[in-house]
Amino acid sequence: DSLGPTVTVGEILVEIMARTRGEGFLEPIDLTGPYPSGAPAIFIDQCARIGGSAGIVACVGNDDFGRINVERLRRDGADVSAIAVSPDYPTGSAFVRYRGDGSRDFVYNIAKSASGLVSLTREAKTLIGRAGHLHVMGTALSIAEIWTILEYAVEVIRGRGGSISVDPNMRKELLGEGAVGERFARMLDISDLVLPSGEELFTATGTTTEQDALASLFSRGAGEVVVKRGAQGASFFSAAGERADVAAFAVEEVDPTGAGDCFGGAYIACRRLGMPPQTVLDYANAAGARNVTRLGPMEGAGTRAELDRFMADTPRRPA
Ligand code: ATP
Ligand code: MG
Repeated sequence: DSLGPTVTVGEILVEIMARTRGEGFLEPIDLTGPYPSGAPAIFIDQCARIGGSAGIVACVGNDDFGRINVERLRRDGADVSAIAVSPDYPTGSAFVRYRGDGSRDFVYNIAKSASGLVSLTREAKTLIGRAGHLHVMGTALSIAEIWTILEYAVEVIRGRGGSISVDPNMRKELLGEGAVGERFARMLDISDLVLPSGEELFTATGTTTEQDALASLFSRGAGEVVVKRGAQGASFFSAAGERADVAAFAVEEVDPTGAGDCFGGAYIACRRLGMPPQTVLDYANAAGARNVTRLGPMEGAGTRAELDRFMADTPRRPA
């Protein structure tokens, strides 16, 4: 952490959620929001909130949707100096409704919002120039301009002796092919730490067993892989052959969105603060679980004290 903040690059959004489950947005329904959102924003908010030094390169509109995000990130201790404000485009948004089976319908305005205008501004260069770690969100890899910033950040942060992590966090159809697939492959080759969840482990590596997937990631240079398993907890693996597992906390899942991003934010922050692997994994597991107990994608992000209390008060699921 002493080398400088953890930095991420990508979309900031508001999320507006349906209060009822059902099929899409084809009739008037009750909505709640706006809530601060965007995978990189959720990640960096949790990273800062738990006490890590953290900042984000992003772009919002000159509107309330942008302001609630910037104010939340600032309140939680993130560096917001490299969040540009577009005078012309609105802040990105996502309307979300869960269907009965747990899948989701979305109405997005991201690519043609301020989120599509993230660029390598002077403020972004300054933040990246001070950074000690880069966290790459798969969601950001599909935007060409963001890729340019990431390549710049990789070069600068590596040059400073900093580290890099990647959360695949994207639809499996995108991981394998085309420009996004190539960018993702390059990130796997240069990342110190990979944080896949579920299917991502296999689609990212083209393997079918966990053992083969881990071997593949380690052969490409990762030092650590952390597998997120939703309500089954998580596992840590190192290239040196160490392993640690955590059983999930027994919580009522109110809103699963953002669990993986909070998990990652807590993981990177605690790791960079020098905590031992098992402690890092415990905080990350708690951060993901606490976040699913609140409505809104980053409403459950916890401070270290809140997560300590959560861990003391919450039983674990039987493994
Ligand atoms: P996202 O949907 O945000 O992309 P993800 O698929 O990347 O999430 P998950 O595995 O769903 O990641 O969640 C990350 C972590 O959060 C899990 O490994 C676990 O520690 C915790 N977690 C998530 N859901 C639950 C749950 N229902 N109960 C307990 N813990 C949970
Ligand atoms: Mg995820």
